[in-house]
Amino acid sequence: MPSQLTTLSQSSLQDYVDCARRFQLRYVERLSYPAIESEPTLENEKHQQEGEYFHRLVQQYLIGIPAEQISKLANSANLQRWWENFLADKDLRVLKELRGLLPESTLSAPLGKYRLLAKYDLIAIENGKATIYDWKTYRKRPRNEFLSARMQTRVYRALLAHAGAHLNNSTPFEPEQIEMVYWFSDFPNEPARFTYTSAQYKRDWDTLVKLADEINSASSYPLTDDRTKCSYCPYRSYCDRGVRAGDVDQAEAEMEAEELFDVNFEQIGEIAF
Ligand code: SF4
Repeated sequence: MPSQLTTLSQSSLQDYVDCARRFQLRYVERLSYPAIESEPTLENEKHQQEGEYFHRLVQQYLIGIPAEQISKLANSANLQRWWENFLADKDLRVLKELRGLLPESTLSAPLGKYRLLAKYDLIAIENGKATIYDWKTYRKRPRNEFLSARMQTRVYRALLAHAGAHLNNSTPFEPEQIEMVYWFSDFPNEPARFTYTSAQYKRDWDTLVKLADEINSASSYPLTDDRTKCSYCPYRSYCDRGVRAGDVDQAEAEMEAEELFDVNFEQIGEIAF
């Protein structure tokens, strides 16, 4: 078992699936970001910070702060546009009226020798149905096929089915009662929705258990064969795969937006030791 590692999350599992070496550097050796992820740096950092701030604005809104008050805090062009898009979405506006609204919720459950942990932007419960919302401030709208295969989509739905009974009068949610929605602040009319089935849940949970076992018994962490994953990876200087960060325009053409611009608080929390 990798020393000191006690929890797994969608981001650590995604790293493991993408590149075992990156998982090792980030979660076993606990190296924080040694290199910027991509250039131009300042612009990306600003975008990430705005993304983080946007999450806070939405959270404030969902806990009852009036929209007019929050609007004053949307003080950049991006934030203003994202916030206006959020308010203009009638499906999101009505969320506030639901009683079962759980913004910034955390669920966890044992997974092999570890604890699987997930932090949800929002779980909305209505009429026995649980909808997971995740706010994304990507510059590109990823394909549904890409999102569907992401560990986040699999972990979030599986963990809610597995460990969400306390949110449903002590009765576990049936997978068929669970849906996950990615809402894109720059593509408000194109949310990605993923329903769930018992068969998918079984497949996902079996995969998660298998991954946890594999991680627990790992004795080596090979570098990925897919070198496109290296061009934006913050650890490339440790792998002799280039010191200078990849150029965003070129990288964007090769990769999905999420890998470049995800704002991942869960991951930030995990590596901030
Ligand atoms: S640079 Fe490439 S091989 Fe090294 S950790 Fe990153 S993705 Fe893996």
